[in-house]
This record gives sequence, C-alpha cells and structure tokens, in this order.
Amino acid sequence: MKHIAFIGLGNMGGPMAVNLQNKGFIVSAFDLSAAALEKAAAAGVRAARSAADAAHGAEAVISMLPAGKHVAALYLGDDGLFAKLPKGALVIDCSTIDAAAARQVAGAARDAGLAMLDAPVSGGTAGAAAGTLTFIVGGEAADLERARPLLEAMGKNIFHAGGAGAGQTAKICNNMLLGILMAGTAEALALGVKNGLDPKVLSDIISKSSGRNWATELYNPWPGVMDNAPASRGYAGGFMSELMLKDLGLAEETALQSHAANPLGALARNLYEEHVLQGHGQLDFSSIVKRFHTLN
Ligand code: NAD
Repeated sequence: MKHIAFIGLGNMGGPMAVNLQNKGFIVSAFDLSAAALEKAAAAGVRAARSAADAAHGAEAVISMLPAGKHVAALYLGDDGLFAKLPKGALVIDCSTIDAAAARQVAGAARDAGLAMLDAPVSGGTAGAAAGTLTFIVGGEAADLERARPLLEAMGKNIFHAGGAGAGQTAKICNNMLLGILMAGTAEALALGVKNGLDPKVLSDIISKSSGRNWATELYNPWPGVMDNAPASRGYAGGFMSELMLKDLGLAEETALQSHAANPLGALARNLYEEHVLQGHGQLDFSSIVKRFHTLN
C-alpha cells in the first residue's frame, strides 16, 4: 500500500499526514481550511482540490475530523467517499466520535465492500508531531494488519480494542478519566498555591507521591511549571477545551445508553461546559485551572 488519502489536516491530522509522507507513503490530502492545506503542502504533502480528488487512486483513506457529523458527511450518501472508493479499499477513521456512529459508518463501509477501522488516538499534538501516537483500534483483526504499516508510520503503540466501535469506546473511557484527573490536578495545585506552596515544588512532590498522574508528570496545568506544556504558552495549541467537552459528552451518552454510573465524568463535563461558556473553548484543556485560581 503506497497511495494514501488523508482528510482533515488540523492540529492532529496535519502532522500525521506529514509523518506518513516522510515515511515513504505518497499522501494526497484535503482540508476545508486553505491555511491547513497550505501548511501540509509546504511540508511535501500533495494538496488535493476535494476529498474525492484526494481519494482518487488511493488504496487507503485516513480521516482526522472534529466530530461524528463530519465523518458521516465525508463518507455517507451519494456524494460521500464510500460511493466512490474501489471495492476492497481500506478506510481508517482516527477522529474521536461516538461508538454508535462509528459502528454505523463501519456498517455502511461493509455494505459498500470496503474495510473500515475506527482508530482514535491518544498522545496529543506533541505525539502527532513526533509520530508517537497511541492508536486504539476497533474492527477486524485482518484489516488492522493491513493498516499496521500506516499506523506505525504515525504512532508507537497500537492496540486492538475489539470489533467495530470498540476503539471509540476505549478512547472515551480514557478521555473521561483524563478530564477528571486534569480537573482534580488543577484543584489540588490551586489549593496548595492558595496556602502558600510553590506550584513547581508541589508538582514535584505529587509526581513522586501517590497523587502522581499524567498531568503532573507530563502536562502540568500551572503556567511556568513545565516549559513545554501548553500552560507555559498561554494554553495555545494542545487539546482544545471544547474537544475535551465533546469527549466528556460522548462518555456521558455512552453511560446513559449502557446504564453505567458516571458521577465524576458528569461533574467534569459540567466543569468543562462552564469553562467553554466562559470563552475558553479554544484554549488547551489544562486551562481548566482558571476555574480554580485567577492567573495573571
Ligand atoms: P482541528 O479542529 O484542529 O482539525 C480538524 C480539521 O478538520 C480542521 O482543519 C477542519 O478544517 C477539517 N475539516 C472539518 N470538516 C472537514 C471536511 N468535511 N473535509 C475536510 N476537512 C474537514 O482538530 P484536531 O485537534 O486535529 O482533532 C481532530 C480529531 O482528533 C478530533 O476528533 C479530536 O477529538 C481528536 N483528538 C485530538 C487531540 C488533540 O490533542 N488535539 C488528541 C486526540 C484526539
């Protein structure tokens, strides 16, 4: 497999497409945003005129779009890519969308004689740029083996979570926990600072104590504690709060559908809802610390 179409060149998709190209694949890409398309083209990716143009002659299509409605619009219906791709083509959707929608799209792919995987990712924009993403895959094992060389060009860890939609379910469980632990970390750091502690000293203590977690170790929400974290560049880039809100909403929908209790996930969703309503939707999700402390 050599010719790949890549649709959606945002914060994640842009660097992922460039990594594929740099690893020897021939990538034809499309994004509705001219700026995103130009940026990827400057890094060597072919800029297509439309999604159909990108997919023309491609053996596999990868999409990295904001939400389920964008994925459905790309693939389904008379104008969708499923109606245009040759039988046997491989489709990999890396967007984070709800599992039910992923199963619906996978069913339509099967009906069209195509192979489809849901392959949402973890690792953030830094992981996308470094080619160290974790792929959490749902679908047939044989299709995953076909996809493996592509996923290995963009990531480091590949997990097969189960059948169609299972990748999305596992991803949503992870991100619900991430939203909870980021809000909890922000609350703990704010409590310490209000009581005279240096946030860096407190973070160092927590990182070597039982409260340690991914946020304290790699993605600290307090400005100035970690040079390379979004908190130290005004919460620009990274994983936007509105996307975290989307994921917490997906977790809540999943909990409702399956009659599972998710009191902490629901609380985190409410915190992020308020945070986004206060105008912070475009800031990295670690900016939830503003909910607990007034930052300069
Ligand atoms: P983004 O908003 O930066 O990028 C999405 C891109 O899709 C945009 O450039 C937009 O123009 C393009 N787009 C939308 N509809 C399109 C269409 N019909 N055709 C072509 N292009 C279209 O978002 P992102 O941060 O790259 O996230 C993408 C997905 O990855 C989301 O589902 C998100 O939840 C998930 N994700 C993001 C991160 C992160 O850290 N940013 C981490 C893991 C997963």
